[in-house]
Amino acid sequence: MNQSKWFTEIWAGDGSSFSLGIEELLHSEQTPYQNIEIYKTTHWGNLMVLDGCYMVSDRDNFLYHEMMTHPALFTHPDPQTVVIIGGGDCGTLSEVLKHPSVKKVVQVEIDERVTRVAEKFFPELCANNNDPRVEFVFGDGIQWIEQAAANSIDLLIVDSTDPVGPAAGLFNREFFSQCLRVLGDQGLMVQQSESPLYHTHSIIKELHLEMKAAGLTQVHTLPFPQPIYPSGWWSCTMASKDLNPKTYNRQRAEQKTFITHYYNADIHQAALAYPEFMRRGLESLT
Ligand code: SAM
Repeated sequence: MNQSKWFTEIWAGDGSSFSLGIEELLHSEQTPYQNIEIYKTTHWGNLMVLDGCYMVSDRDNFLYHEMMTHPALFTHPDPQTVVIIGGGDCGTLSEVLKHPSVKKVVQVEIDERVTRVAEKFFPELCANNNDPRVEFVFGDGIQWIEQAAANSIDLLIVDSTDPVGPAAGLFNREFFSQCLRVLGDQGLMVQQSESPLYHTHSIIKELHLEMKAAGLTQVHTLPFPQPIYPSGWWSCTMASKDLNPKTYNRQRAEQKTFITHYYNADIHQAALAYPEFMRRGLESLT
């Protein structure tokens, strides 16, 4: 193929990069928070890039969005009230809305422009944004959580950018203490937690330590494939005070009433297994 234009994200610290063939730049803007670019790719549909980092492609976003949501939603016994911090592209929101038990979803995204741009260029992710169960708040998730009522949320999903800039404060024990305060008795949180290959001994280990120090004593990381993110292998981390993130309602998962493309009960079970290096790196942390 005569491919002349490529978008490349370089992960210099890990000596790697990933490129997608580009047909054209569809949109570019600088917001008060970040630079947003949308590309039409040759083989991966539309692509969202924030500050030069891959966020979402049409072709592979289902992997991330399904794993950020369904394992946690089938772990909580009856998830009714869900809060998403970040998640401006609305892919996570669209998966949460598939669960009939969910009565209310609040999405707290700092940058309204990400959502408005997603509505235009990723219409299938935003198709249910008008669902009456959804409330959009455009503001800082850290401040929002500080003001939220105690014991009021069943599931908190942190679908943020990398732990730099406005997302840095979403990865420390002060934030997790607030999360613990707002979670209900059976409450659970799930956080995007970077690459198992690149970050088990740095960001993921630190995340476990900070969550546990905040009182979220049950912590487990689930790896899953994600081609456009660094190393092509990504993770989410579930945490709670009491609920064991490794026990889920398999029967409910097997009888799910909606279509997924990656998630099913067997994938859930498999994602709970730690490869040896993750077991060594994470299991003994207290
Ligand atoms: N799937 C993506 C990933 O892992 O790279 C993340 C998707 S979503 C686009 C991330 C969103 O988090 C961005 O739109 C960003 O504006 C938002 N965000 C970052 N920090 C935030 C904060 N403190 N409060 C609320 N939203 C935040």
